[in-house]
Amino acid sequence: MGKYQCIECGAEVESLFHDYNTDVIKIHHCDACHSVADKYIEYEPVIIILDALLLQPQAYRHLLINTSFNSHWRLALILWICDAFTKLILERSEITGQQFTTNFEYINYAFLGMELYSNYIIAAVELFVLIGAVLVIYGTRDLFQNKTIKPFSTSLLMKAVICASFGRVLAIPALLWGDVYRHLYMILCQVFVFLSTMQALKAVDPGPHKTFFALLAVSLGFSVQLSASSYLYLWLK
Ligand SMILES: [Zn+2]
Repeated sequence: MGKYQCIECGAEVESLFHDYNTDVIKIHHCDACHSVADKYIEYEPVIIILDALLLQPQAYRHLLINTSFNSHWRLALILWICDAFTKLILERSEITGQQFTTNFEYINYAFLGMELYSNYIIAAVELFVLIGAVLVIYGTRDLFQNKTIKPFSTSLLMKAVICASFGRVLAIPALLWGDVYRHLYMILCQVFVFLSTMQALKAVDPGPHKTFFALLAVSLGFSVQLSASSYLYLWLK
């Protein structure tokens, strides 16, 4: 796979633009589909993130392939903390039978609770299990098709899964604002992460049958994730 891709059709392109050193750039077009290779190089980051939230495959190709974004491990750390906190609040509200409030003492107490530490373990295992399942599916396919697992595709797949899981942060406002339909919001959040992970995997997959393998990998990942967290809940709680 080349360094850059056309975000419309996924074809390889040599470069995205030519810089004339006079604050003027010329955007390159794709030889395969003749559209602008990557229109997002002129867009503000917030527009790109909004398009990614709208599950536009072009936005995923731009973010994952055409940029040098390598802070996905920091993003994983933020997701890990948010996920553990979300689980704690849901658990607390179920145990007490009360709705979560923004009472300051309650929040401090929640942070001090030992349950938070077990939720950290569960959240970390869930993330690693999802990444592991995706790597197993694509690694197996690579082994059958190419007789080897490409190291660059492994790191790109991990980056895709982590970036696509950013939708889990949406659970925080759902918990803070949603009193009645909190569980419905959580389910919608999971559905969004499922779909965004599929889009991200399709964007970085150079092989055939992208939708089939993305659906297979994400379905397996979510199933194993659910089984692992159920087992850990029984073991740790
Ligand atoms: Zn193209």
